[in-house]
Amino acid sequence: MARPFTWQLVGFPIYIHQSWILAGALMMWGLSTQYFPQDYPGAAPWTLWTAGITATILIFFSILFHELAHALVTRWCGGSVNNITLHLLGGWTSLDQELTHPRHEIRVALAGPICSLVLATAFWGADTNPVAAYLARINVLVGGLNLLPLIPLDGGRLMRAVIWTHLPSYAHATLMTARWSQAVSSLLILYGLTGFVTLANTGWYFVGGLIVLVIATKTKQDVQHSHLLHGTVASWMIPSTQVVTMTPSNTMHELHHLYVQYGFQWLLVCKGDHIIGLVNAYPDANFQANSPESSIEPHIEPLVSHLKVKPTMPLTKAFDQCVMLSAPCLFVWEGDDWRGILTRSTLNRLRSQSARPVTPTWKDWLRTRRWHHRIDRSDLGKLH
Ligand SMILES: [Zn+2]
Repeated sequence: MARPFTWQLVGFPIYIHQSWILAGALMMWGLSTQYFPQDYPGAAPWTLWTAGITATILIFFSILFHELAHALVTRWCGGSVNNITLHLLGGWTSLDQELTHPRHEIRVALAGPICSLVLATAFWGADTNPVAAYLARINVLVGGLNLLPLIPLDGGRLMRAVIWTHLPSYAHATLMTARWSQAVSSLLILYGLTGFVTLANTGWYFVGGLIVLVIATKTKQDVQHSHLLHGTVASWMIPSTQVVTMTPSNTMHELHHLYVQYGFQWLLVCKGDHIIGLVNAYPDANFQANSPESSIEPHIEPLVSHLKVKPTMPLTKAFDQCVMLSAPCLFVWEGDDWRGILTRSTLNRLRSQSARPVTPTWKDWLRTRRWHHRIDRSDLGKLH
């Protein structure tokens, strides 16, 4: 996606999505022509537009400071921030990987709302000015809304972190928070719909509830049934002898060939028996800028130590690790020896299998019927 406005602030890349420009323009227009005329009765248009433009710029910086607070505390807790994006719905701080301790997660989640409430207090001090009074209200709203205990808001992260301190599994804490968010957002949607009957202004409850419901449902699907995983990494890993690997002298063309053949986005690069690192095979613009005959060596990325696990690690813990690190696979090491890999897709198949009831349901029956219709038996003969 094109990001026309990007800049660096205290070491963090800041992306301004096109939708923020639209939101800012609408905000400026609404404030100057609808809101501030009530605060400045009889004022000249330039006074109103100055107030509208100033307020919009200050809202932009209020949201940016909220996100910067998240980013700075993440860095303080030892995490790594990928970028801060400002868009139509506000802002978002993306981390390279989730924080691996609930105490850090609590600090990062609280930092943003605390920053907004501090800003609100500062603007409140100057509330004889209508622009400052408006900014104080906006910052209370941003801080307060974000504290609602719903995924993906800061309050939702806080709730998950608090549950996580009482549970051994991050994925299980995520699942409980996602279920709660689904239930509350369904009620918000229902309340929003009552506006059609009562003609009350409840549209925002409907829109907000719908956004939370979609994100919470996706989050739930990503982690559900993980507590049903049994066994250890050793029982489901792919042994190192069966893993497709590359050597540093391989070419970009060979890398692309393996990507098309196997569909692996990341491939391991080995020299003899030693793993050197990983190489991204996804053919993006960066990839295509290289000549097909050039070596893959400059593109090798070192293996992060968090991705290394022991064969004795329980599968539930391994799944947690995959979710927290957004990792497609983990590397199994025993002492100094690389034993194999455990992929997230293996864990996902195991999750869906453990959730499936032993007795077939009518849905299973329907699925098999459909398959029988689709496969022409004469075609099956040709496969051999
Ligand atoms: Zn926040």
